[in-house]
Amino acid sequence: MRIGLDFDDTLADFSEMLVRLTQERFGIDLLELHRQGKPGKPEVGAERWDVMLKDMLEGDLTVDMAPKHEAVEIAQRLAARHELVILTARYEREMPSALRWLERHGIPTAQVIWTDRGPKSAPAREHGLAVLFDDTAKNFDDFVEHPTVPALFLGATVSPRAQEPGAHVRHHLSHWREFEALVERLEAEG
Ligand SMILES: [Mg+2]
Repeated sequence: MRIGLDFDDTLADFSEMLVRLTQERFGIDLLELHRQGKPGKPEVGAERWDVMLKDMLEGDLTVDMAPKHEAVEIAQRLAARHELVILTARYEREMPSALRWLERHGIPTAQVIWTDRGPKSAPAREHGLAVLFDDTAKNFDDFVEHPTVPALFLGATVSPRAQEPGAHVRHHLSHWREFEALVERLEAEG
């Protein structure tokens, strides 16, 4: 099978670094803000916030993002039997750092696709993805009657807003091990 994987907050722990840098650079507790339902950008200031995100996505910081728990081991196991396709909404200029992260952690990929912040439904279909593992519910909004099974990674993203997946998103997974089990079920179902 061709297995689609999101990058930020699915493979690499973007949010953990975002929370840490917001504290280190600005002394602001992003988790506490989010508990109050407030986004970080206005508190930090738009300009400083955008510089931080650019540093994280385009610079060396991506390479230092921690993997999500057991993501590397499980992705490697899956790659032994399946083709892994990275499907990220990153811009092209943000890809060199992501590719270096994948190389650093020894994750074999059949293909790496970026959408420049565009939707993922068309590329998922075009590239024959059997399943897509992604932490952002809204990425699946247009996966209704779609050949790719949407698998939502719960709790991976730090956000002041609750995610509301559509009813067609039936798989809500809180750990990579649950995703591995889903892939095995899909494989058995043929
Ligand atoms: Mg993501």
